Amino acid sequence: MKTLGFAAHSATSPLGPFQFERRALGPQDVHIEILYCGICHSDLHSARNEWGGAVYPIVPGHEIVGRVKRVGSGVKSFHEGELVAVGCLVDSCRTCSSCKAHLEQYCETGFTLTYNSPEPQTGKMTYGGYSTQIIVDENYVLHIPKKFKESQLAGVAPLVCAGITTYSPLRYWKVGKGSVVAVVGLGGLGHMAVKLARAMGAHVVVFTTSAKKVGDALQLGAHEVVLSTEAEAMKKNQNRFDFILDTVSGSHELDDYVVLLKRDATICLVGLPEGDHPSPTVGNLIFKRKKLAGSLIGGILETQEMLDFCAEHGITADIEIIPMEKINEAYERMLKNDVKYRFVIDIKKSHFR
Ligand code: NAP
Ligand code: ZN
Ligand code: ZN
Repeated sequence: MKTLGFAAHSATSPLGPFQFERRALGPQDVHIEILYCGICHSDLHSARNEWGGAVYPIVPGHEIVGRVKRVGSGVKSFHEGELVAVGCLVDSCRTCSSCKAHLEQYCETGFTLTYNSPEPQTGKMTYGGYSTQIIVDENYVLHIPKKFKESQLAGVAPLVCAGITTYSPLRYWKVGKGSVVAVVGLGGLGHMAVKLARAMGAHVVVFTTSAKKVGDALQLGAHEVVLSTEAEAMKKNQNRFDFILDTVSGSHELDDYVVLLKRDATICLVGLPEGDHPSPTVGNLIFKRKKLAGSLIGGILETQEMLDFCAEHGITADIEIIPMEKINEAYERMLKNDVKYRFVIDIKKSHFR
């Protein structure tokens, strides 16, 4: 199927219009007309080959909301006209212990990412949501809960990456009533973490490098905000947190945050910068049995659970809607920490199509 999209053709060239073929609809496939696609910092890392492994052209985009246009003959869970979402994963081996435990994001033989991954059905690279339509196996498609209104759909798109990436560790580390939680970095992921941790009943403290975000952090649901550039304020927060979620997209000193943990508490990294962080001091971990951890998005079942949780609590992302043509500008603003708090592409209102 001929499809129009926007692609990066090299690590240094701006994204531009690109026409490509989607695979034909298979019996297990859902054909989705894309309405909105969120812009994740991972899209920028990938388009610019900051993690290595880029195969150009790359059509980024893994925060997809759309409407089902057609379903394959064997599809049971979706019907034409239904509103659906697609996140970072479009396939996995389905047989390893991780897949069997509904943890497809940790598939032991390798999962298929929504873009820049070899597609099992064709062997060609996958192309993501900066495009007009996509074909996805029904097992990797999410239902959008009916509680969401059509006017909220653009704000639902970021839930399937920024939302699940923060929801999953908050659940795994059992954040809830009585937890004192720090969210480091108030970007796309960070602002979702604030909303989710607050809805789970935690006391939420945001750590930001941006003085201009202090008011917003409180509006988003944080109980307190700390400017991480202020040494005195950082010191006052030592030995205080049950859990810290670090969403920062750039390399930084982890020791600044490890010292804020209580005994036995965990700092979980979800931000994945181009270069590693300086290694944290061993002593800071040993003396109070602290844990340094990481977490990758979430499985399909948990992503559906997260969407249902968000619908129940009236949670969507705070977004700025742009047409596809503004993508390169949006990337530059993201690098200046100037996003409130997620860009979302309105595919239908874009001129490239
Ligand atoms: P984003 O919207 O650009 O937000 C990142 C925030 O980090 C910025 O707004 C800024 O917050 C802070 N920051 C950036 N550079 C910094 C630096 N050098 N030092 C300190 N703080 C800095 O990005 P995002 O879309 O939320 O993604 C965040 C990271 O998570 C990216 O690396 C992305 O690839 C990764 N990610 C990981 C997963 C996963 O599964 N683990 C999933 C999705 C994304 P303040 O202005 O508040 O300081
Ligand atoms: Zn993402
Ligand atoms: Zn697997």
